[in-house]
Amino acid sequence: MGEPVAVIGAGLVGCLASIALAKRGYKVTLFEYREDPRLTSTTDRNLRSINLAISARGISSLEYVDKDVCDRVLEGIIPMKGRMIHDTKGNQEAQNYGLFGECINSIDRAVLNSRLLNELDALENVEVKFGYKLVRINFGDIKQNCIFKTRQNAEESFEFDFVVGSDGAYSTVRAQMQHAVRMDYSQEYIDTCYIELYIPPAKTFNDDFRGPFSISPNHLHIWPRHNYMLIALANSDGSFTSTFFGPWSLVETLNSKSKIEQFFFANFPDAAHLMGLDHAVQAFLNHPKGALMCVECKPYHVPGGKAILIGDAAHSMVPFYGQGMNCGFEDIKVLMNLLDSQSPAEAFESYSQQRHKDLVAIIELAKANYKEMSHKVTSKAFLLRKKLDSI
Ligand code: FAD
Repeated sequence: MGEPVAVIGAGLVGCLASIALAKRGYKVTLFEYREDPRLTSTTDRNLRSINLAISARGISSLEYVDKDVCDRVLEGIIPMKGRMIHDTKGNQEAQNYGLFGECINSIDRAVLNSRLLNELDALENVEVKFGYKLVRINFGDIKQNCIFKTRQNAEESFEFDFVVGSDGAYSTVRAQMQHAVRMDYSQEYIDTCYIELYIPPAKTFNDDFRGPFSISPNHLHIWPRHNYMLIALANSDGSFTSTFFGPWSLVETLNSKSKIEQFFFANFPDAAHLMGLDHAVQAFLNHPKGALMCVECKPYHVPGGKAILIGDAAHSMVPFYGQGMNCGFEDIKVLMNLLDSQSPAEAFESYSQQRHKDLVAIIELAKANYKEMSHKVTSKAFLLRKKLDSI
């Protein structure tokens, strides 16, 4: 079997990277500090529901890794051909993304992660180790010594030719790399909190939407209210995952049932009806309140082909452009393309040089798109331009 390599973090990006490396003959060990998500129930969407928009960027990267894998893991995705803007009176206005039916697609993150893990099970040169938390890396001249805390709180160490850090925004691989290279690094929280909400399936089958959907499944629904907004993406069972985004100062004042009810009545009356006001209130009070941050760093590698960062570990971005995962998948495409013609040392070096400007650009676009989604979509000029576009 090929050279032993470690991938740290079995999120979406780490799973796809493991598939891509295994296909190139590496002997991959994928470490994840959580337990296998397929062993815990993710069916109760009301408690925990996240879905993501996968775009052409992510799909073409999945196809690049393996067309059959792409087809299997994306089965049942729901195309969204445009935005649906909801005003405070409950009126809806569709704004198509393109003239030729271009769309992004809604997919359940937990389902996608489980399917990618299933694909890994079928590969004999990949071993997945759950319950292993990376705590330290000793970078050596030939081998990289990785030390993990196990679920029994014991320490175990393994040696690899190189390490791929796909361990998310708070990456331990990145922190360890910072001891070995002069890495520029920045982390910035934006003043926005997010709360996950839920719209249940309609009680009856809707012929227009060919399913138990209470609003169009083929649009990304937005309730733009200038400095805060609500969005919703469809799930295949007829429900919608909805997310509220707003400044922390606002969210912190919405701390009682009556204040939240008034807020929803004034701003999102139709959404409150779709969710059920009680659910909206309970979710607002009890669901976790997430912070949003951007991470930038440079370079993404340790010279000598010892380690490389991909996904959120390298470039956590705010979610308003729907490109975090898509970009993480594209990282894999770019990296594998380089590894096909260069040694790991050369490929990692080229990757850091080539990839940085694209990632900086997309992080900026993601920040800018908050204004677009929450505010500009309601401006007269924007609506007029959209109308002209569709003539
Ligand atoms: P993660 O998903 O964070 O996975 C990292 C993994 O590493 C985790 O499983 C973690 O347990 C593991 N780990 C961490 N530390 C260690 C350690 N020390 N040892 C071992 N394992 C470790 N992106 C899109 O493309 N489209 C969207 O529509 C979209 N919407 C979003 C909406 C919201 C509200 C948010 C917050 C994000 C959204 N994103 C979207 C971004 C997307 O979720 C992320 O970019 C993507 O999940 C990153 O994947 P990852 O595998 O790099 O990191």
